[in-house]
Amino acid sequence: MEEPDTDHQADEAAAVAKPKAPHSGPTRSSFDIVIVGGGAGGGAAAASLRHRDKQRSIAVIEPSLRHFYQPGWTLVGGGIFNSGQTVRPMETALPRGVQWIRNSVAAFDPGQNEVILEDGSRIAYRALVVAPGLTLRWDAIDGLTETLGRNGVTSNYRFDLAPYTWQLVQTMNQGRAIFTQPAMPIKCAGAPQKALYLSADYWRRNGLLDNIEIEFRNAGGVLFGVPEFVPPLMKYIERYHAQLKFGSSLIAVDGERKVATFEVKGADGASTREERGFDMLHVVPPQSAPDFVANSPLAGEAGWVAVDQRTLQHLRFPNVFSLGDACSAPNAKTAAAVRKQAPVLAENLLAMLRGRPLSAAYDGYGACPLTVERGKVVMAEFGYGGKLMPSFPLDPTVPRRSAWHLKVSGLPWIYWNMMLRGQEVLARPASTGNKR
Ligand code: FAD
Repeated sequence: MEEPDTDHQADEAAAVAKPKAPHSGPTRSSFDIVIVGGGAGGGAAAASLRHRDKQRSIAVIEPSLRHFYQPGWTLVGGGIFNSGQTVRPMETALPRGVQWIRNSVAAFDPGQNEVILEDGSRIAYRALVVAPGLTLRWDAIDGLTETLGRNGVTSNYRFDLAPYTWQLVQTMNQGRAIFTQPAMPIKCAGAPQKALYLSADYWRRNGLLDNIEIEFRNAGGVLFGVPEFVPPLMKYIERYHAQLKFGSSLIAVDGERKVATFEVKGADGASTREERGFDMLHVVPPQSAPDFVANSPLAGEAGWVAVDQRTLQHLRFPNVFSLGDACSAPNAKTAAAVRKQAPVLAENLLAMLRGRPLSAAYDGYGACPLTVERGKVVMAEFGYGGKLMPSFPLDPTVPRRSAWHLKVSGLPWIYWNMMLRGQEVLARPASTGNKR
């Protein structure tokens, strides 16, 4: 396994179709709409805005040459996808007609209606969309960055590491495999256990399960946040003989010795430290709002962009909107949520520019297709407050083959060909009650 790389280095080394240069055209420093981030949220927002109004000038500020379909990384770690199926050149992910500015935003100056780029230049806007995702805090765990991608330490949360998960799964025939989950919120809260299920299913099918001790170490206190989905998931935990350890947070990794250290909260609230040897360690790191967001005037208390959870409009700056992982709305941080948020944001942002009331409301929809075994998925779809919101009239707690096909074929297709193209399938916004 090669050394862990930064996104920039990975850009250079990517074994994918060579990305073209960012959109050329006259260099401007002022746009009707500026979008920070060209990931799932920024890309979908750009597409939904263009779909509604082709006259406005739109810029997307995004440093990466590559756009990732992160929901596919679980499938890479499970040997179902290769990593090339989860990445495309940024050029092709952004809609035609928007200007891609290949740079990073360093700060916000909402009083002046400007963002400040890393090189110090400023871009002015009439409306701003903030969608830079969240930050994975690998360095919050002592010794982790030095050993990621080596010594049996892996994570599906990084494009370059997900293939290493699959390599470890295939070569392991005995020992202890530990899967970790940090404190909430994280993106795709089901992904830590999806890694466990697909690994364990491989070992089960190959007659190895009796030789492999599996632990799921979760900093929280429940297997899944929506109670209806816990019983079917527990059946799989039992099938795979996995031990559940709640209140257990990974704090250090010694890759050479293959020892992980956990802080374990007892029932009395007291913490103790526990060292655990491992042969395979799948790590999901703590996650937070990016520093340049958390330290900006746009941040709310926990650091996320402070928006109204229904309209996605900023609570203090009416010409600022946010969607995706960086925003404060208390939905499950998923690409599925973005699919529903983008049309709401586009409707409301354009209404704001036209001086009309905001009429579209986001209901908190998010989805987590739980890959409980190769070939079956529990399709968890829910909104604010854990309200079940199944897209199909079937019991959503039942593991299904049809849901597996949706996860492996349907959803990636919808993502690339519909969501990033402004084709809003099953994403009609609810109404705020305000007339347009
Ligand atoms: P991202 O897609 O991460 O995009 C953020 C973009 O902002 C990036 O392109 C980044 O380069 C850019 N950026 C960062 N900093 C700056 C800056 N300073 N200036 C400008 N641009 C910047 N979701 C599901 O719906 N279903 C799933 O099954 C699922 N599984 C997942 C499994 C894994 C392992 C992971 C990691 C995620 C999974 N997700 C899933 C979650 C989903 O991928 C995210 O919720 C989604 O990508 C969020 O979109 P976003 O635009 O907010 O962030």
